[in-house]
Amino acid sequence: MADIDVLVIGAGMVGLGVGRALANSGKSVIIVDKNPSFGEETSSRNSEVIHAGMYYPTNSLKAQLCVRGNELIYEYCDARGIMANPISKLILATNDTEIDRLHKIFEQGQINNVPNMRIIESAEIKKLEPAIDAKLAIYAPTSGIMDSHSIMLALLGEIEDNGGALARNSPFLGAKRENGEWMIEIGGEETTKISANTLILSAGLWSGAVAKNVEGLEEKFIPQVKYAKGNYFRYMGKAPFSRLIYPIPNHGGLGIHLTPDAAGHARFGPDVEVVEEIDYRVNESRRELFAQSIKSYWPQVDENLLSPDYAGIRPKIGKDVESFTDFQILDEKDHYLKGLICLFGIDSPGLTSSLAIGEYVAKMGALA
Ligand SMILES: Cc1cc2nc3c(=O)[nH]c(=O)nc-3n(C[C@H](O)[C@H](O)[C@H](O)COP(=O)(O)OP(=O)(O)OC[C@H]3O[C@@H](n4cnc5c(N)ncnc54)[C@H](O)[C@@H]3O)c2cc1C
Repeated sequence: MADIDVLVIGAGMVGLGVGRALANSGKSVIIVDKNPSFGEETSSRNSEVIHAGMYYPTNSLKAQLCVRGNELIYEYCDARGIMANPISKLILATNDTEIDRLHKIFEQGQINNVPNMRIIESAEIKKLEPAIDAKLAIYAPTSGIMDSHSIMLALLGEIEDNGGALARNSPFLGAKRENGEWMIEIGGEETTKISANTLILSAGLWSGAVAKNVEGLEEKFIPQVKYAKGNYFRYMGKAPFSRLIYPIPNHGGLGIHLTPDAAGHARFGPDVEVVEEIDYRVNESRRELFAQSIKSYWPQVDENLLSPDYAGIRPKIGKDVESFTDFQILDEKDHYLKGLICLFGIDSPGLTSSLAIGEYVAKMGALA
């Protein structure tokens, strides 16, 4: 008999969401992370936006899990007193060529069942956000912001309440199938072995590297992970906005958007910068690009008040970072290995989708 039912590699928001769903369904769960704590990589280096789900192609996992995840995040936070605030979002068309694209995003949102979106014209945009200069906008009332650190803490708490645990400073080294179970080697101060019925790879930027250490997993099922950095700049002056302000998406990202904070300041980002290494330093040379993009919808912005803030990196698995690629959640029917679930390419909207990914994985055949 295996030591535990499930071992999850990676304690980001997604690994924790998956671990929590399985722990709640009665499985014994251990999550391992190479870092001293949970959520120290992509899950703490993002926009913390609760996406509504209008950007993603029909029936894609991103469309389904984002729309469902949006609902679940609000419910989860509401029940636990965690901040999740539907401050709403405006997606802006600032010129005629963007108007067509705006309508396409709106139609896609309708297909994806995003609730209560509306197209609004410049007079209503001015009423909602007087500093914005735009011709047309999508108003999405279910978009919002969340306190993802508190959500992760609560998810871990639930896993622990069900008898599960997070093993910190515990890098996954390798796994092979022995006697119908996974025998898993974990590093750290001492190397240990643990057996599990199900092994779940949720290692974000390292998902490709981790998958290569699973014996028997054919290389053709392991995508090459490319790194698309997103830099953020903080606005040091007052920013007169109360909603999320987004341009039309471009170049593999959702555009350099504005997230207001409670103190009346704002953060801008992320952009998309292809990088070769995981290096979280902000590329300050992007300031001019930021200023240009922001000016297209907020002409009064003072670019001298833009100060480098932080950066995160998206794990992209497409042929290039600009093309749409869906989340990949593979099990035995995809890669022919029993008791193995691989999560690849969990970039945006991974945070929003995390609880829905948990629900989805908990239903997968490999866990029967
Ligand atoms: C710039 C940017 C902005 C974003 N904005 C949003 C947003 O506003 N809304 C939204 O919904 N999504 C957003 N996302 C996407 C979201 O942040 C990610 O989809 C989500 O955080 C992915 O979580 P994860 O658990 O898969 O990965 P991670 O948080 O990276 O977790 C993976 C974990 O695996 C661990 N690990 C790796 N290798 C090993 C190993 N060998 N052994 C043990 N542990 C290992 C790592 O230490 C890490 O803790 C954004 C992403 C970026 C980069």
